[in-house]
Amino acid sequence: MSGPADPVRRAREILEAARRLVVFTGAGVSAESGIPTFRDALEGLWARFDPEDLATEAGFRRDPSLVWRWYAERRERARAAEPNAAHHAIARAARGGRSVVVVTQNVDGLHQRAGSADVVELHGSIVRARCLEGCGPAPAGWEGDPRTPPPCPACGVPLRPDVVWFGEWLPEAAFAQAAHACREADAVLVVGTSGLVQPAAGLPIAAARRGCPLVVVDPRPTALEPLAAVNLRQTAARAVPVLLAPDGSAP
Ligand code: ZN
Repeated sequence: MSGPADPVRRAREILEAARRLVVFTGAGVSAESGIPTFRDALEGLWARFDPEDLATEAGFRRDPSLVWRWYAERRERARAAEPNAAHHAIARAARGGRSVVVVTQNVDGLHQRAGSADVVELHGSIVRARCLEGCGPAPAGWEGDPRTPPPCPACGVPLRPDVVWFGEWLPEAAFAQAAHACREADAVLVVGTSGLVQPAAGLPIAAARRGCPLVVVDPRPTALEPLAAVNLRQTAARAVPVLLAPDGSAP
């Protein structure tokens, strides 16, 4: 029998029953792959900088090379990292006619590398660059020099990382796609996010308010807990494989 005494069983039932599942992820899903949060990455040589220096358009215009080096380092770190058991379990969850849309606030590309096919990146991707003035995506070979951004071949201004900086809107198409997936979802599995960063956090909140069950996995308390059907205070790599394993199989 299931009941409040067995939150893992309850969470597994909710997720197993969902034909359309959204997995909404934040930094916590990549922590066990060794990817630090933005703020935790401000260490060593970077400790003297503020997010305003490194992750705003104004900061980039002031010192494009500084910002480029910061992202080149983080990109290398992401490339050197491996998807963990949570990323892999999420990628395997799309089976038996179930649709799984991954909506992520991460920029590290680890969901795709684990094999998830349907990934919506709300905050862009560190492995892409684009023109600062909007000409379009960077041409092949843009990563050549980690010390300074190459010029846009069309207009000559520096290319910028294709991530969402502080003070910027989320990419419109990605946000619309994520909102649609959350409206259609039978359940939302929320992994490793504080639930505080808007407007992204508004998506699972809206789903919960229309009665869609949320399962929240985070070792720390999150702002989404009061809305969740089940809260599991565990790390992603520990909890998610158990929650998403097929019935009758031990992960
Ligand atoms: Zn351009």
